[in-house]
Amino acid sequence: METATEPLYRLTAVDRYFRVGSAEVRAVDNVDLELYPGELVAIEGPSGSGKSTMLQLLGALDKPSRGSVVFDGRDLSKLDDAELTSIRAKDIGFVFQAFNLIPTLTASENVELAMVPLKGAKAERRRRAAELLDQVGLSERSRHLPSLLSGGEQQRVAIARAMANNPRVILADEPTGNLDSRSSEEIGTILRSLAAEQGVTVILVTHADNVAGWAHRRLAMRDGQLSDRPDSEWKAPAAAAPAEPAPVPAEESPAAERSPDPAS
Ligand code: ADP
Ligand code: MG
Repeated sequence: METATEPLYRLTAVDRYFRVGSAEVRAVDNVDLELYPGELVAIEGPSGSGKSTMLQLLGALDKPSRGSVVFDGRDLSKLDDAELTSIRAKDIGFVFQAFNLIPTLTASENVELAMVPLKGAKAERRRRAAELLDQVGLSERSRHLPSLLSGGEQQRVAIARAMANNPRVILADEPTGNLDSRSSEEIGTILRSLAAEQGVTVILVTHADNVAGWAHRRLAMRDGQLSDRPDSEWKAPAAAAPAEPAPVPAEESPAAERSPDPAS
């Protein structure tokens, strides 16, 4: 079989330094990484290790000090602002720990707002928002303001919003950091199905072991350096036949999914 799966991201020798006074902080230090369509990848690491900076680079919100971030064959540092804005709107969905919904807009309006930059008809935006809220189990809540929703429900609205324009990637920065274990599991079910059924590349930053256990591949970040966890059994899908799904680690078994996790 000659056909190999192309990576969606290819990072080569990526550094991101910040100058703080006379010191230089190496937030991201010499990272090489390939990420494939349909992969669910967890990035774990202590506070300050560079996880959020990594997501900013992957999300075309920041540029490396050195090295290159190639997304879908395009070197992000060579694109102009309009091209980057277009990639962020169409290809990348963001999910945050604090949900970041607009408090004065309903669930549906929050989702619809993400589609405004793509200039479709309003009726079509509404229809698509209803479809997305249905997919995350919130059809009954579409006219609610965020303040009337639980944390888990707000995060599901945020995922619907992130999916509004059919992105290739979801970047989630500690998406379950403010949630109880049951709501976390609901978020996990949704993120896993986006990767498995829609081929979305999901990259999530987390401190929680059960959350990282959803992932096909677990990466550890320390002092800006990224490495595969030693227990990660991940292999690049380029070595496999293209139609084959990514290998599923033991933590992904249905039995593990159901086990309660008192840690979160
Ligand atoms: P994490 O998300 O793992 O907690 P961050 O990526 O937020 O880590 O930060 C990594 C390091 O880079 C920290 O030392 C942080 O203080 C520093 N840093 C991040 N953003 C900036 C910035 N805009 N200016 C200066 N230092 C920054
Ligand atoms: Mg962070």
